[in-house]
Amino acid sequence: MVNSCRTCENCRAGQEQYCLKGDTLVCGAPDPAEPGAHTQGGYSEAIVAPEDFVVLVPETLDPAAAAPLLCAGITVYAPLKQFGARPGTKVAVVGLGGLGHLGVKMARAMGADVTVLSQSGNKREAAKALGADHCAVTGDGSAFTELANTFDIILNTVSAPVSLSDYLGMLRLHGTMVNVGVTTEPMPMAVFALLRIRADPRLRRPLPVRDRRRDLREAEAGMTGFHVDAVRGH
Ligand SMILES: [Zn+2]
Repeated sequence: MVNSCRTCENCRAGQEQYCLKGDTLVCGAPDPAEPGAHTQGGYSEAIVAPEDFVVLVPETLDPAAAAPLLCAGITVYAPLKQFGARPGTKVAVVGLGGLGHLGVKMARAMGADVTVLSQSGNKREAAKALGADHCAVTGDGSAFTELANTFDIILNTVSAPVSLSDYLGMLRLHGTMVNVGVTTEPMPMAVFALLRIRADPRLRRPLPVRDRRRDLREAEAGMTGFHVDAVRGH
């Protein structure tokens, strides 16, 4: 996100990603500042954006390590922070792709007990290497029974429909399932699954600029103990 109207109700509340006139995404979006033009992404050597949408990367952070924090990193950091991931909290991360592996690292850095929920057992070693405390296979459905009433937070990073009712059954009372893996397919859900736990399924969009700044400050201060394995180009 590189711009928004900054005058509507949501922008004034610091929730620019919900701009009622539509936020301007960094790539392929019509650019209100230049009618007829589209934004061209952030991979060039220089990019012009309003200062309200620019975050300062601390000098102590490797830019290559900081870059993922501004996209996938903030996407998983913000809900974990908002819903209270900390020592004593049980967090499940569904899926171990780009978002999922950062989710595991972030939740562990916040001190939570982390379980990776994966379709198959193929990623068990990778999950442990990232710091996950546990890994459970959901493919045969047994995990939904064995881990019923277990988690405070379920971070769903899968970009395909999942059985919400099954996952909600693994939440404890007042637990929260956050869906950051977005799919255009509908996901049916039995309302009874919500009533049992007063659960809270949420769909998030990228986070406000102020949260990105906080994310980077905490990374700089070592509060998250966060580490990114950057892949460098040549
Ligand atoms: Zn707005």
